[in-house]
This record gives sequence, C-alpha cells and structure tokens, in this order.
Amino acid sequence: ARGKLRAEVVVLGAGPGGYTAAFRAADLGKQVVLIERYSTLGGVCLNVGCIPSKALLHAAKTLTEAKEADQYGIHFGRPEIDIGKLCSWKESVVGKLTKGLSMLAKQRKVTVIHGAGKFANSHLIEVETSDGIETVSFEHCIIAAGSSAARIPILPDNECIIDSTGALALTEIPPRMLIVGGGVIGLEMATVYHALGSKISIVEQMVQLIPGADADLVKPLHKRLKAGCEAIYLNTSVSRIEVDGKEVQVFFEGEQAPEPQRYDRVLVAVGRRPNGKLINAEAAGVSVDEHGFITVDKQMRTNIAHIFAIGDIVGDPMLAHKASHEGKIAAEVIAGHKVAFDARTIPSVAYTDPEVAWMGLTETEAEKQGIAYEKAVFPWAASGRAITLARDEGMTKLLFDKTTRRILGAGIVGAHAGELISETVLALEMGADMQDIGLTIHPHPTLSETVLFSAELAEGTITDLY
Ligand code: FAD
Repeated sequence: ARGKLRAEVVVLGAGPGGYTAAFRAADLGKQVVLIERYSTLGGVCLNVGCIPSKALLHAAKTLTEAKEADQYGIHFGRPEIDIGKLCSWKESVVGKLTKGLSMLAKQRKVTVIHGAGKFANSHLIEVETSDGIETVSFEHCIIAAGSSAARIPILPDNECIIDSTGALALTEIPPRMLIVGGGVIGLEMATVYHALGSKISIVEQMVQLIPGADADLVKPLHKRLKAGCEAIYLNTSVSRIEVDGKEVQVFFEGEQAPEPQRYDRVLVAVGRRPNGKLINAEAAGVSVDEHGFITVDKQMRTNIAHIFAIGDIVGDPMLAHKASHEGKIAAEVIAGHKVAFDARTIPSVAYTDPEVAWMGLTETEAEKQGIAYEKAVFPWAASGRAITLARDEGMTKLLFDKTTRRILGAGIVGAHAGELISETVLALEMGADMQDIGLTIHPHPTLSETVLFSAELAEGTITDLY
C-alpha cells in the first residue's frame, strides 16, 4: 500500500461529476487525489449507463432502419445478429472513453486510487485498496459517489430479474421480456431489446410513460412502442413474482391489471438511489438525509464548509450533464472563484425511437403553477426534412411568456430531438424571445427548422403550415 497520501482536493467517485471536478481542480493548480472503487474511471455513465446504452441504441437503430427501408423499395432480408460481436463493440466504445479518462488524469498529475473510500473524520478518508488500507488526508473534499439502481424489495433474487447493468451486459436475447418502469432508462432498454427481436411488455404505475414529460410529447413514442410491443400496462404495478425454473411468473395489480404473465426476463428500471449511506459521511459530520441524498447550497457546499458534493448524490435530475456542471462549480469554488450553480435549466432526453427531449418549463408545470404562458406547436408532418426521413410523427413545441414573449420551455419529439433541444436551451439561457428565434436563419431542409417554424407560428409570420 502507498500508505498515507495528502491532497489539497480529494474527489470521492470518478463518474462524470467526479472526474470533471478532479480535472478542473487540477487545471486550476490544485494537487488532486481521485478515489474510485471500479477498475475504470467514468462512473455509471461511461461504464454501465449513458455510453453503453447509446452504443446499443445505435445498433438498434441500424436494425430498425434496415427493416423500414422496405417502404422505399430497399430490402435487406432477415438480419443476422452476432451478440458476442455486438457486445465486444459496445465494450470497445466504453474502453476508448475510460482509457481516455485515465490519460487525461495522468496528464494533469491527478493521483488515482482504486478502492472503496470512507470518511474516517472530517479531514481523512480511508480507502480499501486491493493491497490494503490507504489513507488520504485532505484540505477540501468533493463527494461524487453517485447512485445505484433502485430495487423492489418484494422481488426475489434471481438471475431472470435484472437491472439496467444486467440488461446492458446483453448476454442473450430473451424471447419474452417485461420492463418494470416506463421511465427513460426502461424505455431505452425496451427500444434495444425490441429491435433485437425480444417480445417486450412494459408496466408503469403512473398514467403515462416518462411521467416527467408532457403527455403530448410522449404520445408519438407511446404509439410506436404500442405498435411494436406485446403490451403496455399503465396505472399498473407488479405485486409479486414467482420464479419457476428458467421463467418467472409476474402478478400485477391496478384497475387495468392483466392476468399473471410468464416472462424469460424481467428488467427492473424503477429509478435510482443515491449512494450517500455508503461512505460513512457521519464521521465527517456531513448530513445525509433518509434517502441517502446530501444537501448542498448553490456552491455545492455541504453543511461542512470544506466538503462539497455533486451529481446524483445531491438530488434530481440524475443526469450526467448536471453532475459535470456541478463538478466544475465545486472545483472553481474551492479554487476561490466567485461562482454558483445558476443554470436556468437542465435539459432531459430519452434516446428512444422517436427521441423525446424537453427543457425549461413543461406545460404540466406551467398549468400547475398558474403561469401565463402561450405555446406554439409545429407538427413534423409539415417538415420537409422529417418527410425525407420517412419519420414525420414528431413535433416541436415552444412555450413562451405571454407578455415578454421570451422562451420559457420547449419539448421536441422525433428523430434527433436530443440534438435539437440544445438550441432552445441556449435560447432560454440568453433570454431569447420568439422574434429572436424567428429571425434566425436556419439551414433548409433540417429538423432544426422546426424550432424556427414554431417561433414563426408564435409571431404570426407564418400562419399556415407549408
Ligand atoms: P456516478 O456516475 O454514479 O459515479 C459515481 C462513482 O463513484 C462510481 O464510479 C462509483 O463506483 C464511485 N463510488 C461510489 N462510492 C464510492 C466509494 N465509497 N469509494 C470509491 N468510489 C465510489 N444520464 C444522462 O445524462 N444521459 C444518459 O443518456 C444517461 N443514460 C443512462 C443510462 C443508464 C442505463 C443509467 C443507469 C444511467 C444513465 N444516466 C444518463 C444517468 C447518469 O449515468 C448519471 O446521472 C451519472 O453517471 C451521475 O454521475 P455522478 O458523477 O454523480 O455519479
């Protein structure tokens, strides 16, 4: 063991929050130690989250597009899927990025320790490494220990019941699979396994899929999933699962609950729990709430002045770009900069087919809060670009203030919605109004024009769709 280390800044956890914080602190001249229990850097996002899921979704998209090319006279025949090769490719994508992070750490002289870290006191962390306990004393600490998949306590421990990490491991294509949880992670995995040939059912206890997004945005996605899936059960939850050899029998409850069904696999994607209870935070005096979240102020400071926390462990939305933004702020505050978290919005994207993206105020929130908003909706059936893609089921919606006409929120459903939403985020950050967007020349024919057309509809500079 290296024994005792001293750090100006120690970062606990090397996910998108932790590595961003560590790199920023090092760039600002701090001597940094980064502690990570996994063998690679990158956290959930790179190893078992954002990146492997997007690699598999890309493969799924290739399959779907090949199948749907039939409609314009191109026939590929039945695809042959080599699961082993698909898996190695996904792993190579992850490997490229995690190796890149190790290099970036080295370049910045960030000391990386692999092992599980726990607070011993308010200036000391003990790390259990493969060759013994190592201690790191620190001036400042940034807790970035992230989150883990939530479990449903009543479900038995069985290899047929998997979480997102198991689903991403992709060892086989189960003939029949149930996805428990109609949120973003569950629906992304549903999209992957459906394209690979599994018969998919989805059960969600709320009234709609992706409960955080407006219903009109989710509708085109729901419609397409419904056409491809075996069943979508809303307002329904799983009450019991019985394991029977290589199959499981699932019992449902709720007014529209179906009869018990048999599946080969059940993927539980019912949210994520913060890891706040796993780091012995109380030894440092850091308050952790009953769920495992750590409360921070706008400078990402915990109740202990020299200890900061960022990312999934400080609360929703549990998103990588929120974690990394917070990481930069914590590092800069430690370096003495006068900065704080003041982003006006954190965009959300479901990389499903079609994609759903939203930012700022949703219509549901606007109505609940009694905000005087107006909206402009541009259906993609009138977008030349969407029609050339043979995918015109999307829509672009802008919400704006009735008086100032400034953008308040946006929602987009359709191909590449995740890319398209950024323009509206910038508009919100810049305080743009409908005229600003409407007077901005967008390239033709693109899907980004649908943002322009929505603003023009709002301004009355186009009235009819052409
Ligand atoms: P994490 O990424 O959770 O990293 C925390 C790190 O801390 C981990 O590496 C962990 O091993 C380490 N750690 C924890 N405790 C200790 C300890 N005691 N000692 C040492 N190390 C420790 N977000 C998006 O924005 N876009 C997406 O497309 C997206 N897709 C996702 C898909 C899936 C399947 C999943 C599960 C999540 C997805 N997310 C996505 C969410 C995203 O992964 C998280 O929001 C993000 O990783 C949070 O970053 P973080 O730095 O807070 O923590």
